[in-house]
Amino acid sequence: MRIMLDLDGVLRDLVGNWRRMWTAKFGEPQCDPSSWRQFAQAGAAVGMDEEETYRLLFDEWGYELTSSALPYPGAVGCVRNLRKAGHWVVIGTDQRTENMRFGTVSWLAFFRVPFDELVFTSDKATIEADVYVEDRPETLLALKRQMPGRLVVRMRRPWNQCLAGDGRIPAIDRLEELWGLMEGWGAKGT
Ligand SMILES: [Mg+2]
Repeated sequence: MRIMLDLDGVLRDLVGNWRRMWTAKFGEPQCDPSSWRQFAQAGAAVGMDEEETYRLLFDEWGYELTSSALPYPGAVGCVRNLRKAGHWVVIGTDQRTENMRFGTVSWLAFFRVPFDELVFTSDKATIEADVYVEDRPETLLALKRQMPGRLVVRMRRPWNQCLAGDGRIPAIDRLEELWGLMEGWGAKGT
């Protein structure tokens, strides 16, 4: 099967690294961790507008933010096992700046994350796959709408709890749980 794995929030703990960097500079971030807009909220709490916040995070801090984040426990081993089992792994990720793209390529090499394709895009529906694993609520809904018949899986994170009641989109806590979902999905033939 072709499996599209999102990177941040699925394989890489970017938010954890952001919290570490933010706390070192500004103190504990003042934001709602259950909101997708937590970066902007934290910036607003220290007097930065959205544009300034994003310039700091994605441009100035872009390389360190992406390259020094940690993988979620077990995630890299799971990607290796998926490929060993013959699946085609596409890593689909939206990295807004060149610094973030450089940092991401370094990160993948450093943690020896295997993949068949790496696609930088803000529109995951341009990636053809049978299975999608994603954490961003808007992207999950867009994939569900635009890619009928595919298995769209939510990686459960505080910022996507708004989809907890959506029975069409199964959720997992760890990437290893994807095996069970794929088996069930294949057996149903849907
Ligand atoms: Mg993500």
